[in-house]
Parts: sequence; structure tokens; C-alpha cells
Amino acid sequence: MKEKIVIIGNGISGVTCARYIRKYSDHEILIISAETPYFFSRTALMYVYMGHMKFEHLQPYENWFWDKNRIELKQAYVSNIDTAANQLVLDSGEKINYSKLVLATGSKPNKFGWKGQDLKGVQGMYSKQDLDALEETTKNGIDRAVIIGGGLIGIEMAEMLLSRNYPVTFLVRENTFWGNVLPIEESEMVKRHMAEHHIDLRLNTELKEVLADENGHARAIVTNKGEEIKCQVAGLTAGVSPNIDFVKSSNIETNRGILVNEYLQTNIKNVYSIGDCAEFKEHPSSDRRNIEQVWYTGKFMGKTLAATICKTPTVYNPGHWFNSAKFLDIEYQTYGWVFPKPRENEQHFYWEHESGKKSVRLCYSKKTRKFIGINTFGIRMRHQAFDKWLTEEKSVEYVLEHLADANFDPEFYKQHEKEIVAKFNAENGTSLSVRKRNWKTLFR
Ligand SMILES: Cc1cc2nc3c(=O)[nH]c(=O)nc-3n(C[C@H](O)[C@H](O)[C@H](O)COP(=O)(O)OP(=O)(O)OC[C@H]3O[C@@H](n4cnc5c(N)ncnc54)[C@H](O)[C@@H]3O)c2cc1C
Repeated sequence: MKEKIVIIGNGISGVTCARYIRKYSDHEILIISAETPYFFSRTALMYVYMGHMKFEHLQPYENWFWDKNRIELKQAYVSNIDTAANQLVLDSGEKINYSKLVLATGSKPNKFGWKGQDLKGVQGMYSKQDLDALEETTKNGIDRAVIIGGGLIGIEMAEMLLSRNYPVTFLVRENTFWGNVLPIEESEMVKRHMAEHHIDLRLNTELKEVLADENGHARAIVTNKGEEIKCQVAGLTAGVSPNIDFVKSSNIETNRGILVNEYLQTNIKNVYSIGDCAEFKEHPSSDRRNIEQVWYTGKFMGKTLAATICKTPTVYNPGHWFNSAKFLDIEYQTYGWVFPKPRENEQHFYWEHESGKKSVRLCYSKKTRKFIGINTFGIRMRHQAFDKWLTEEKSVEYVLEHLADANFDPEFYKQHEKEIVAKFNAENGTSLSVRKRNWKTLFR
């Protein structure tokens, strides 16, 4: 039977879901989203400010794509959901009926009730509107920006501002940079690299309040140590949380996010949630967090849900954890699990290049030698290799001996496998050798 599927949110999760519903069915599809008329790549927003791309270049699909695939788009804000009537209410008052509803409303930057957090010049870096606001605030130049909260979005925002030569101060509450994710050596590497880029990093420092000028614009921030730092931009990058305020007045169950089961279904039979805004009551993979706020998990959820809606109930299975990012000039990749400190029965092996800008850390089981995860900085690795080795539960010794197969960098880049394995041998009394690169093993 042909149904009317309404998706709120045109980000990666909502759009992937729509694309697969179209692939699998003839259902009517409507995507309602407030931020922009068309889907864009949020992860590349920074490059627009830095002048590498125009905003239009962030759209993965041409504008004709939607008509051709019979996916109707509507730019509007949904203010209410009436699940008893299967009806949405837009802020214009318009009512829209659905037979199935998908909530894919993403995240919003955290605000912790700081005094002055809503002044002009105080902003997160999440949406197209945030990008426009930063353009507007900095169009005539600024003396300084202060970024509050050390994580991936914070460092991206710092890089954006540095690209226009604006001095940046970075406040981080903890005593290390991104210390809840990075082990101390990697965190120190990022710290040194930030200093090279003249970022004024203040660890153990929190925002107390933002001070206003006579026009209601930020003129300075005050730290918890009582220091006043003059700035016209205060970047709020202390994490994000599910963008679900408008859902709270409905009878859809929420916690931090919209609560879903392993099929991405909410407590209401024909209502689902995917992407950054969804929170698993219990994640189907025991080693994952209940809220996943990364690009590829949104994509997986969209695809999985389309299968559930159009074919058979399908459990969300994101596979092995991975993530990648850039800390200014240093690329970071992680596959499997590497916690800041080894968990019980785990061991870490760490190698760092003398430049202090490249490193590899392997996490493995002390008892079984099973490879558990890897962090790499400054060396690009192949996802496929680690995904396969994690699935096949290879040993740390196997991974080290075959590391050349995972190295993505072209032949003429300096290879470091010999150095890495020599260090492991010296520390562990082993005599591993580096196998010649043989990519064929990865494709078998
Ligand atoms: C600057 C930045 C860099 C990032 N870099 C990376 C990276 O390198 N790698 C990575 O894996 N992840 C990265 N992320 C995270 C990644 O972008 C997100 O996980 C992903 O975009 C979330 O997609 P989504 O579809 O769940 O939601 P979103 O992309 O947030 O889309 C949700 C949409 O729904 C709209 N909406 C919300 N409520 C309503 C409503 N009531 N009515 C109508 N519309 C509504 C919103 O306006 C929004 O447009 C980054 C995020 C940011 C902000």
C-alpha cells in the first residue's frame, strides 16, 4: 500500500532515508526542514568561511535530483506533532498529515546558561545560520575570538578564524585537550600544534560570562579565574545535544534524545528517529554509545530505517567504530576502540615520529593479543584494512606485520612501518618483521 512518509530534517540521515525509501518503494516522500531548502554537507561548512568553496558547492545533489526521484522538499519549521491525529503543525499554522513519520532533526550547540550567551557575536558553529552570523560579525575584522570548549568543532572554528588572521584564545575546562577521547600523548601533540598556529590555549579555564557593549554585542568574556579577555566573537563549542525541544510537548518518549529501539522506532508505532537526535534505549551493539553524533552513523541509520519501512524489520548495525578529523594540519583517524587509558585487560603500544606530528597507537588485549583499535595521527590509513582485521579478530602482531597494507599514503611518502615494528619488538622482546605491501589480501 502506498504510504505518505514525512521526514523532518534534510541532513545526512533524513536524506539517506528518503533516497533508500525511493529505491525500495513507491511511497510518497516529503522532507520538511527549516535550515536550508536543500541538503548540504555540514562537515564542510568551515571551507566556505575559509574561501575554499562556495556554499552551493556543499550540495551533494543537483537541484533537479529531488523532482526526478519524487522526493518533495519543504522549507519550514515543525512546531508540533500530534501523534493521535498523525499530523504535524508548522509554525505558519499549516497542518500536514503523515502515515509514517521520521524524526531526523540533528543537534544544536550546548549552552549552559552562561550570562551573555545570547548576545550578538556569541554563537555555535553548527548551522548555515551560524556560518552567516560569523561572516556578519567578522566582516569588518575583529581583534580576537574566544572559543569555549575543546573538541573537534572548536578546533575547526579556530582554524576558520585563523585563516583570516584573527587571533584566537581557546578555553578548555579540563587539564588536557579533548582528554575524554585522546590519550595524553596525542592530546599533547595537538596542543603543541595549536601553539605553532599561535592559538592561545587556556587549559583548566571556564567561561563565566560574556560582557556586552552598548549595542548588545559581545565585547569581552570573563573566565572563572576572573580574567577579562577582549573579543568580538565567543564561539560556543562545548559539545552538542539532540535538537528535540519541539518534540517534548508530544507523547513521543525522550530522554537526552528521542528514545528508539534497535529498529529505530519510538514508543509510537509509526514514528521513528535517526541520526544525531536519536537515542537508543539500549544500543544493539554493546560497545557503542546510545547517542551517536557522526556523519556515517546518520547515513547507516537512514539506510537501515528505509529497509524497515519498506522491506523487513532491520536491526541497526553500524559495524566497527571509526572516525576521522583534522586538527589544523594533522589528520586523525581512529578505528575500533582506543580509550584515553587502557581499560582492564587492555594494553596500548604507542609510537611517535621524531617530528612530533605523526603517531600510531594500537590497543590490544593483554591476554589474547586480539587487536582492539588504532589511533593514527599524520598518517592516512585504509578503513577497509582495519575493518577487516577487527572483524577477523587479528592479533596485534598480525596488524603490525601487515601495517603496510593499511597505509594509504602513496608510495613516495615516507613509510614508517619498520620504525614502528622495531619499537614494538624492543619493548616486547618480539621479532616481528614488516611484510611487503600486498593490498590483494584486503580484497579477498
Ligand atoms: C562544523 C561541524 C563539523 C563536523 N565534522 C564532522 C566530521 O568531520 N565527521 C563526522 O562524522 N561528523 C562531523 N560532524 C557531525 C555531523 O555533521 C553530524 O553528525 C550530522 O550532520 C548529523 O546529521 P543529521 O541528519 O542527524 O542532522 P542535521 O544535519 O543536523 O540535520 C537536521 C536538520 O533538521 C532541521 N530541523 C530540526 N528541527 C526541525 C524542526 N522542528 N522543523 C524543521 N526542521 C528541523 C535542522 O534545521 C537541520 O537542518 C560535524 C558537525 C559540525 C557541526
